[in-house]
Amino acid sequence: RKADIECDMLVIGGGPGGYSAAFRAADLGMKVVIVERYATLGGVCLNVGCIPSKALLHTVAVMEEAKAFAAHGIRFGAPEVDLDALRAYKDKVVARMTGGLGGMAKGRKVTIVRGYAKFLDPHHVVVDLTEGTGQQTTGNEQVVRFSQAIIAAGSEPVQLPFLPKDERIVDSTGALALKFVPKRMLVIGGGIIGLEMATVYASLGAQVDVVEMLDGVMAGADRDLVKVWQKHNEKRLGRLMVKTKTTAAEATPEGIRVSFEGEHAPAEPQVYDLVLSAVGRTPNGKKLAAENAGVAVGDRGFIDVDSQMRTNVPHIFAIGDIVGQPMLAHKAVHEAHVAAEAAAGQKRHFDARVIPAVAYTDPEVAWVGISEDEAKAKGVTLGKAVFPWMASGRAVANGRDEGFTKLLFDPETHRILGGSIVGTSAGDMIGELALAIEMGADAADIGHTIHPHPTLGESIGMAAEVFEGVCTDLP
Ligand code: FAD
Repeated sequence: RKADIECDMLVIGGGPGGYSAAFRAADLGMKVVIVERYATLGGVCLNVGCIPSKALLHTVAVMEEAKAFAAHGIRFGAPEVDLDALRAYKDKVVARMTGGLGGMAKGRKVTIVRGYAKFLDPHHVVVDLTEGTGQQTTGNEQVVRFSQAIIAAGSEPVQLPFLPKDERIVDSTGALALKFVPKRMLVIGGGIIGLEMATVYASLGAQVDVVEMLDGVMAGADRDLVKVWQKHNEKRLGRLMVKTKTTAAEATPEGIRVSFEGEHAPAEPQVYDLVLSAVGRTPNGKKLAAENAGVAVGDRGFIDVDSQMRTNVPHIFAIGDIVGQPMLAHKAVHEAHVAAEAAAGQKRHFDARVIPAVAYTDPEVAWVGISEDEAKAKGVTLGKAVFPWMASGRAVANGRDEGFTKLLFDPETHRILGGSIVGTSAGDMIGELALAIEMGADAADIGHTIHPHPTLGESIGMAAEVFEGVCTDLP
């Protein structure tokens, strides 16, 4: 078939991976086309993920803080929630960010084709053009010929087969739509996404139960951090049912009737006004007819890549959620830059030592590099230092001293190998630890770095000093 458009670089998907790759490729002189089925760039992260969730989390965090101010002698009235206005605020934040991307694409002369791309052969895709919200196709097609391509088609929520189709059962996108505040809500899955949404809805007034099959929530984080989060949320959340699973759900006029099985399963089925299923995400690898281009897609839909993000077909790259865990926007962006630069002929490889993770819950939980629990499981001996925020003037002044900062070092060389923080703004601080690990810093480097006083970030320098035996009289 004759091509309607020709380009040096085709990018499939306009999420953080896709737009970052497209912009970098354009900056490096390539003629770039992005195919995106939705009306805006930004993908899951900007439209129905990172950004709208943070707009809501910020709002409820301020609301909770205002309540806590009563203990500081400042009393506000009980919060009144105007859901329409809150939704409008969230949508405005999203529109501003996605609109910005549109402008950035235009400035770089990146062509955006609205539609759903499928490979025809190693150098062509056919795009089923879409309109409206992205679900409706126009019935028209365009063929794009490319010299090189980057697949950044992302992932979608895993569906639990036993959940009936009902508007009271939603995934993260449905929960972010914030149609109403339920009286009783169940969150299935105690991962980051589930717990962030539980935080929002609980603050807005819902009684939220969380059910998790594993023996703890927030997999990947050390248990001592999770304990701090759990204690702080004891009153805000309803039941936290670990080692328990949902076995059946039935839509009834009174609500969704859910049965449980496991260690903390309630004896009777429970009825909920809203059920959020947040049991993970599955890559979109099998929906691209990738076989027509000869690109190998694994059983679970992930696409294997090398350190330059090349698939088994050397001129076709893949990045972001579709290439594997962790499914995080900052990983997608980093991989995007590697792929675009490699495609431009640069000797760029993915060689990041660590990828930080953050749960933007209240308090926040952030970690990077090796974790203490992982080291223990592997029988690796680490040096460890903890700085409790009880000893941080700033945390005490903020009325939030429940957190701590933990650093993990090589016991011989004192090089930092990992670290984690639980407490307010932990996510904003974890970047310093990622930098320290990338730079091969040791405890003395970190301890001798002058951190501003009084800040929460100071706890990082102090923890390093604890490790060096300088600061030994902590509570
Ligand atoms: P995506 O963002 O999934 O983008 C893929 C795009 O490709 C989509 O726009 C899709 O429409 C399009 N597409 C797919 N197939 C085709 C096709 N065949 N043709 C055309 N277009 C196609 N990560 C963080 O780092 N921090 C957070 O705080 C965070 N919060 C999150 C909160 C929620 C509720 C969710 C769901 C996710 C969150 N994430 C967060 C994860 C983050 O959103 C993803 O890791 C990130 O969006 C992945 O980027 P991506 O470019 O790989 O894919």
